[in-house]
Amino acid sequence: MYKIAKIKIESNGQKLEELENIEWLLTMYYRNGQVLENYLIEEYDNYYFVTITITDDDALDSKYNNKYVNDMLKKVKITDISITTNDALTTDSCHCNEYDRFYLIPSLDISSPIYCSKCEREIPLYKLQPFYGDEYTLLLDYIKTYQALYNLYIYGLKDNYTEKEIMNPKSKFNKLGLNICKNYSKILKKDVLLKINNLFYAEDDSDISHCLKCGNELEVNNNPYSIYNKECKKCKIIY
Ligand SMILES: [Zn+2]
Ligand SMILES: [Zn+2]
Repeated sequence: MYKIAKIKIESNGQKLEELENIEWLLTMYYRNGQVLENYLIEEYDNYYFVTITITDDDALDSKYNNKYVNDMLKKVKITDISITTNDALTTDSCHCNEYDRFYLIPSLDISSPIYCSKCEREIPLYKLQPFYGDEYTLLLDYIKTYQALYNLYIYGLKDNYTEKEIMNPKSKFNKLGLNICKNYSKILKKDVLLKINNLFYAEDDSDISHCLKCGNELEVNNNPYSIYNKECKKCKIIY
């Protein structure tokens, strides 16, 4: 579950440098999947209060820090961390001890596009192996690309281009997704399937029976409460 955390940081009066370091620390925490991107910094005479959303109860445990977070922690003097309450607008995340397979799901307002197939909840990124280098930046950028496309479709163009980018597995955006799935499955040593979102899922006539990439007949998911309805085993795509 996402939590709201308050971090108290000592100030020695070097405000400009301190604020820059605090912002870098928060950026490193974000790129390591430990916190969401938005934060508030309250400034007082001898200290700051930073309010942040952390991606799970134990997200700020030092065992999850990478070298970039630790480097910044040498420059920022944290004197107290308190987790105040739940972020009321979020659902719980995955707490499974082991995984079967993973889904890459483009969604809005989330910290991680990687879902667990067992509980079908998002997995805070810091609990998984980094995707590229030591961080998760490419996965976080993937969420942002989807958000940009979705916003362009919903609030702007509603045109064929944005629609296809989201719904056609052969689009540039979904090729990027399939590429992430392929490469991350090598790192995680388990299948990572791509979810193709349907912008018109409420309409019956949009219900597809064959894979939009290879044309094979789709396998139906018998669980009506699942986050997907159909699957192409060959392409490792869920619809
Ligand atoms: Zn799970
Ligand atoms: Zn297929």
